[in-house]
Amino acid sequence: MTKRISIVGGGIGGLAAALACSRAGAAIELFECSQQFTEVGAGIQMGPNVVRVLDDWGLKGPLTAVAAFPERLQVRSAQNGAELGVLRLGATAVQHYGAPYATIHRADLHNMLLSAVTGRSDVELNLDSELIEFEQSESGVTLRTASGRQVHSDLLVGADGLWSRVRQQLLADGVPIATGHLAYRALVPQKVLPAKLRSQQITAWLGPQLHVVQYPVRGGEWLNVVAVVQGHVVGDIEYWDHSTNIVKLRRSMAQTFSALRDLIHAIEHWRLWGLSIRPPARSPHEFARGRVALLGDAAHPMLPYLAQGAGMAIEDAQALAQALTVQELSVPLALRNYADARWRRNARVQARAIRNGQIFHATGLLRWGRDAAMSVLGERLLDVPWLYRGPD
Ligand SMILES: Cc1cc2nc3c(=O)[nH]c(=O)nc-3n(C[C@H](O)[C@H](O)[C@H](O)COP(=O)(O)OP(=O)(O)OC[C@H]3O[C@@H](n4cnc5c(N)ncnc54)[C@H](O)[C@@H]3O)c2cc1C
Repeated sequence: MTKRISIVGGGIGGLAAALACSRAGAAIELFECSQQFTEVGAGIQMGPNVVRVLDDWGLKGPLTAVAAFPERLQVRSAQNGAELGVLRLGATAVQHYGAPYATIHRADLHNMLLSAVTGRSDVELNLDSELIEFEQSESGVTLRTASGRQVHSDLLVGADGLWSRVRQQLLADGVPIATGHLAYRALVPQKVLPAKLRSQQITAWLGPQLHVVQYPVRGGEWLNVVAVVQGHVVGDIEYWDHSTNIVKLRRSMAQTFSALRDLIHAIEHWRLWGLSIRPPARSPHEFARGRVALLGDAAHPMLPYLAQGAGMAIEDAQALAQALTVQELSVPLALRNYADARWRRNARVQARAIRNGQIFHATGLLRWGRDAAMSVLGERLLDVPWLYRGPD
């Protein structure tokens, strides 16, 4: 019998889940609280592990049309500009991992997934539909929206992001923790930048208590820049997109290398995020209970320092669809298998992202050790085979 799935949240995770599960034969109703499907103006890096999943879903063509495929990732000192290490991407990533490393505008990735689900007869998309609560029984799950609509299905997927209401009701495990890290994000057409600041590679600038990552998107025509500094959000962190204070950002970058400072100064419009996380998952029970599963940031909000949050949501979606295709299993058992398949890998990525934050922002002896290790080990320190070879 066709499984009926309610998905809460129409971000990258929710749309990926809708696509993967409908391809696996389920009937989907998706509920998004916003009045439109939108994504913020920022970029996303996608490792070969994620590109491979999108390829499996028949999205190679659309991805190639909108993404950039940088040839290398270069790590530089934010203080003096010295090269600390290089990871070859491009053909090397394809050779090692069977897929390239891509960088993409979030809106392009979101649109690609939206186009793929729109028009599928088994997917119904509901905007302006905020989940208020749900109830599960032996026979199914009933959700209720803010407008009073009640919808019954076989299972419910909470893909409702960092502040997930589904998680609150399912696990009641408190709210995410503010990390004291602030991310300033900007997207700028390369052609408006001075020629010396344009770039087609990924560059990570590491400095004491800060780092900056820049990479091309939209076939290389735009540059995405993320500057992370330590500090606190003024106001309510729950509304995590803040109008930003460019003076503060420029002040934080005052002691950095001239080429980096010039880049920061060349960009006028920045948006600010306060970064909040949860500790790495400790058990599969954090991913599914009964007929309700969590996916993406709702399940495993992480620091963006391994550039894998959206990637893990896409991998989750694939694993969920695979778990649900085993015909003889009951829904709770299938979701238990999904949770078993996903929690350890996600916990490892969450932990590695926290560690990367400490390494990226290192000061004193730790910084010295980091730079020395990179010069000795080079690419071996930057490559993450267990991650890029996955999800299996
Ligand atoms: C600075 C920064 C850089 C990043 N860089 C990368 C990167 O390079 N690579 C990468 O893979 N990831 C990156 N990430 C992480 C990535 O952005 C997230 O992991 C990803 O967007 C999570 O997607 P999601 O669909 O789970 O959640 P969200 O994108 O938060 O989507 C949740 C959706 O649910 C909706 N919703 C919420 N509550 C309700 C409700 N009650 N009812 C109905 N709908 C609801 C919301 O409106 C939203 O549309 C970065 C994050 C940050 C902050």
